[in-house]
This record gives sequence, C-alpha cells and structure tokens, in this order.
Amino acid sequence: MDVKLKVAVPQQDLSAAENLPFGLADEVCEIENLEGEDFWIREESDLVRPLSDFPLPCDRIVIEGELVRKLLPQALLAMASMLVDWPGSELCVRLPGNEDATGFLRSIADLLRALELRARGVRLISCPTCARCHTDILSLARRLGARLETITEPLDVAIMGCEVNGPGEARAADVGIAFGRGVGLLFRRGEIVKRVPQADAEDALLEEVKRLCDL
Ligand code: SF4
Repeated sequence: MDVKLKVAVPQQDLSAAENLPFGLADEVCEIENLEGEDFWIREESDLVRPLSDFPLPCDRIVIEGELVRKLLPQALLAMASMLVDWPGSELCVRLPGNEDATGFLRSIADLLRALELRARGVRLISCPTCARCHTDILSLARRLGARLETITEPLDVAIMGCEVNGPGEARAADVGIAFGRGVGLLFRRGEIVKRVPQADAEDALLEEVKRLCDL
C-alpha cells in the first residue's frame, strides 16, 4: 500500500507549499480543484464516523488541516483507528491559508508511516538512553535529522547508546550505530561497516545513508 499525501492550498500559496521539506507532500494542488465523492473530515464528529458510513470506495480522504492542528494529538489518535484498515490511495490535507503547516504535516506523515500506509524519507530510531549510555544521543539525532531532511528514500537509521543492547537494533536498521565509550560500531543492512570515533559518527552515518541512496 502506498498512500499519496496531498496538500491543497489557495492558488497564491502553491509555490510555498511545493517547497515543503521531508518529502511531506507527494503532490500540491489548488483547493478549488477538490471535488468529488471524497470522505471529508471537517468537524470533530467526522473523526469518529466509520468509513463504512460513506459511499464506497472512499478512495480519497480530505481532511481540514485546521482541525488536525487544533486537535493534535487527539486527531491523530482518531485518524489512526480510522485509517488502520483503509484501502484508499490518497489522503489530502486542506490548508486554507498561508501558514507553516510543516509540523502537523510531519505528524500525519509519521502516522501514515507507522500504519505502513506510506513510506518517505528517513525514520530516525534512537534508544531512550539509560545509565549504560555515554553519548549525547539526543543531540546527535537532532543534528543528523536536520542533515537528512532532503532524503526521500524510505530508510531506517538507528542510533543506539550502548554496546550491550544497541547492536541488535542498529543491525536491523538500514544504517545503524551502537556506541561504546568514545567509539561507535557502524552497521549497514545487518553488516558491520567499521568502528568510528564518536566525534566522526555523525558524518559516518550520513555517508552511509548517501551511499545507500547513490548520492
Ligand atoms: S540501547 Fe543501551 S543505552 Fe540505549 S536504552 Fe538500551 S540499554 Fe540503554
């Protein structure tokens, strides 16, 4: 299943919406072009309507962006139960004005990814850290996430804090690293690539991701 995430904006906002990061929007269209027998989510009560209430095939769902923004995270929870078995092909988010919708569009993209309905870009997995961890995992994940924003390939990148439980998750990702004291063990698709000094880990992870993407 590969659901398209579409963004509908007023005509004057088209160019701004086309520059959305993270491959968030597969397509941008004008609001005026939204027509048809779509399932519309306009009000809170629509979020708890079963899709079976609507004329089939209900291939496209159109949702008011303002509703999602206002109700986060409740809207995401409701959408998750609505979409979990949805066989449709397009989720369209309607944005009525020129506004920064990046945050909640990313939440919707993450939801679709979690439901295995759509995969775009890098999913960063990092361990929650504990007493075994001697690396600033959070800062590394933030920096790396920013540097990976332009990657649209669906890849998992794991950053793990110790050599005890970290290698399993790092090995299972497309690119992963498990840190020990001052050093990280770098994996690519289950194979050990090399050991890297902690200071070089960020560049080494980025290099492996680019290699997988042929960049
Ligand atoms: S991977 Fe290691 S450092 Fe991270 S939470 Fe698990 S045990 Fe702790």
